[in-house]
Amino acid sequence: MFDAVRFIEEKRDGRAHGPEELQVFVESFHKGDIPDYQASSWLMAAFLRGLDKAELVAFTLALAKSGKVVEFPDGLDCVDKHSTGGVGDKTSLVLVPLVAACGVPVAKLSGRGLGFTGGTVDKLESIPGFNAHLSMEGFVDQVRRIGCAISGHSGDLAPAEKRFYELRDVTGTIPSIPLIASSILSKKLAGGSRSFVFDVKTGSGAFMKDLDGARALARQLVDLSKALGRKSLAVISGMEQPLGRWVGNAAEVREAIEVLRGSGPTDTTSLCVSLGGAMVFLAGRAACRGEGEKACREALVSGKALEHFRLLLEAQGGSTACLESPEKELPLSTETTLVRSGMKGRLASFGTDRIGTALRYVGGGRQRKEDAIDPGVAVEILAKIGDEVSPGSPVLALYHRGGEAGETAARILAESFTVAQEAAVPPLIHETVE
Ligand code: URA
Repeated sequence: MFDAVRFIEEKRDGRAHGPEELQVFVESFHKGDIPDYQASSWLMAAFLRGLDKAELVAFTLALAKSGKVVEFPDGLDCVDKHSTGGVGDKTSLVLVPLVAACGVPVAKLSGRGLGFTGGTVDKLESIPGFNAHLSMEGFVDQVRRIGCAISGHSGDLAPAEKRFYELRDVTGTIPSIPLIASSILSKKLAGGSRSFVFDVKTGSGAFMKDLDGARALARQLVDLSKALGRKSLAVISGMEQPLGRWVGNAAEVREAIEVLRGSGPTDTTSLCVSLGGAMVFLAGRAACRGEGEKACREALVSGKALEHFRLLLEAQGGSTACLESPEKELPLSTETTLVRSGMKGRLASFGTDRIGTALRYVGGGRQRKEDAIDPGVAVEILAKIGDEVSPGSPVLALYHRGGEAGETAARILAESFTVAQEAAVPPLIHETVE
């Protein structure tokens, strides 16, 4: 019989657990033999005391093995990418077909929106007919056939992690770097890919608001991946302002299509090329990241990336008409409210999380778990940091369904930026951790 009290005391007093006891702890909790109050108590002890490298490896492996693990046939070494969450971050929609078009198999597991951040599954579900929940067999088979697949996390993968995550969410134990790293990597390991590119976001629209925190998480993710025998690289990218021109589910799919057509906003395109180049390099298809980036740029220019997106849509039941007539297939809400600058100067900063919150207010994200998403609501970013503005110039446009929610969201947006005489344009990419 596992002695949960002794186990909690051990961590409380700052001692390290052995790998076997961590494994038994995870298994026992998953089977229901350890109640939530004891698991919560241990989580708080781990939050305060931390986990050393050996503990982190054992805990992550135990979480990953608590359910099914996707297995790809020999020779099909897939790459996956994970973003820590941002506002207007539609890079996965571009990267999956883009990297596949460069000859690298991509097996992308994605999530739904969390808090003020958007989720790839919600964005994909704004495409008529798109099936974002593949079976494990369907996922593997599709990667084999067309070189890529995107699916929501199935409950079969790392189910113990899901239970720990739910407890962390309500016990103040989310913002712990070892617990975040083990949570992310356990799901990635269960997804069967051999290498991972992490997009660790920092700034007002990220969970890691400061660069030091983002650096520490990036380092932990890369070190833990290595200890688990996986190749990885982390790009620390800026979320001081929304990425690209659009925030909102259907609107972000439209922007992703523009990027795949070679006519997307510069920042979204550049970040996709950087992350894509890193994925191609890690998969061994390029001698360096620069060469990987070149391959990505060529795939955008030649139309190969767009063609791969068409294959992805066909394979997952999504309407390919959205490629020809995105305005018709991915409609936006028709009520529009412009949010304007009150003074002359330069756009100096965004409270980017507030833009995500405003969108959530009008139905672009969930207030409660069971809420349905309104795919057509959106925020258009009409000015970026550093742009000149004058009294009355539009900074943001809200596309919504009217009513009180629209008014509240517009008020939030009006307070989501500052104008000053000087403005420093924040970097798109801060640094890379290898
Ligand atoms: N995302 C995850 O998957 N896990 C965490 O703990 C935090 C963010």
